[in-house]
Amino acid sequence: MKIKDLFSSKKPVLSFEIFPPRPDYPIETIFETISQLQDLQPDYISVTYGAGGSNRQRTVQIAAQIKKDYQIETMAHLTCVGHSPEELDQIIDDLKNNDIENILALRGDPPRNEPNFVFKPGHYCYANELVKHIRRKDGFCIGAAAYPEGHPECKRWEEDWSRLRDKVNAGVDFLVTQLFFDNRVFYNFKEALLRMGVDVPVTAGIMPVLNPSQIKRMVYLSGASMPAKLLQMFDKYGDNLGDFEKAGIDYAIEQINDLIANQVEGVHFYTMNRAEQTRKIIININK
Ligand code: FAD
Repeated sequence: MKIKDLFSSKKPVLSFEIFPPRPDYPIETIFETISQLQDLQPDYISVTYGAGGSNRQRTVQIAAQIKKDYQIETMAHLTCVGHSPEELDQIIDDLKNNDIENILALRGDPPRNEPNFVFKPGHYCYANELVKHIRRKDGFCIGAAAYPEGHPECKRWEEDWSRLRDKVNAGVDFLVTQLFFDNRVFYNFKEALLRMGVDVPVTAGIMPVLNPSQIKRMVYLSGASMPAKLLQMFDKYGDNLGDFEKAGIDYAIEQINDLIANQVEGVHFYTMNRAEQTRKIIININK
C-alpha cells in the first residue's frame, strides 16, 4: 500500500522508525524489537539507511521482512550521498523486487571522517534530484525530510523551506519532519508551508528524551531548540536516571497528544529500537 493513501483514510497516521542493527550484531535482534512493537499497530514502519555503507543491504532486507512476516506496511529510507545514479537504480530495483512501494528519499550526510567531501561528477548533491530520479520510475510513493527549524546547513529557515517547496514540487507525496520539542515550532512551520502552497501531508517526527546524555547528541545532530520545560527536567531529574526517563516519557505523551488535538496528519515516532519505552508512550496517546 502506498503511504500517501493512508492520509486520506486516517488521522493521525502513526509510524515507527527503526534502524538496522550494526553489521556485527545479528539481524534477528531487530525482529525481536518489531515483534514487541507489532501490537501497537503502527500504520507503517520505516527503516533507516545507514550512513556508514556496510549496513545498507540490511535496510532492504528488514523492510521486506516487516511487510512479508508481520503484514505491516514499510518504508525504506534511501540516501543518494556516495551513490552513482546507476547504483541507486540497483537499490531501487531491489526495493521493487521486494514489493516495497514507499521510499523516504534523502540526501544523507557526507562521511564524518571526510570534512572536504566533494560529490563525484554525475552524483546527486540534493534530495530533490533523487526524488526526480525515483519519480521517473513507476509505482513508488515518495516521502522526504522536512525541518521545522530549518536544516542545520542553511543560514535562514525560510531559505531551507523554499528549497523544501522545490523538493516537494519535484514529486514528493508526503513529508516527515526532523525531531522537535516545541509544538509551536511545528505549527508555525505547517502554516508557513501552507502559505507557500505546500499542501502535502506533514508527519511530525517525535523522539522521546530518555536520558540527559542522549539529548546532547540529539540537539547537536538536529539543531532542535529546547523549550524551558525540557530544560527544567534537567534541573529536576538530571541526577536520577529513572525519574528522568519517566519525565521524558510523560513529555513525549503530552507533546504527541497536543499535536493530535491540533489535527496533526501523522506522527512519526523515532523508536531508537527501544520497544519498552515506545510502548509506554504509544499506549497513552489519543490515537
Ligand atoms: P536536502 O533536502 O537535499 O537538503 C540538504 C540541505 O541542502 C539543506 O540545507 C537544503 O536547504 C539544501 N539544499 C537543498 N536543495 C538545494 C539546492 N538546490 N541548492 C543549494 N542547497 C540546497 N540520514 C541518513 O543517512 N539515513 C537515514 O535513514 C536518514 N533518515 C532521516 C529521516 C528523517 C525523517 C530526517 C528528517 C532525516 C534523516 N536523515 C537520514 C538525515 C538526512 O540525511 C540529513 O539531515 C541530511 O543532511 C539532509 O538530507 P535531506 O534529504 O533533507 O537533504
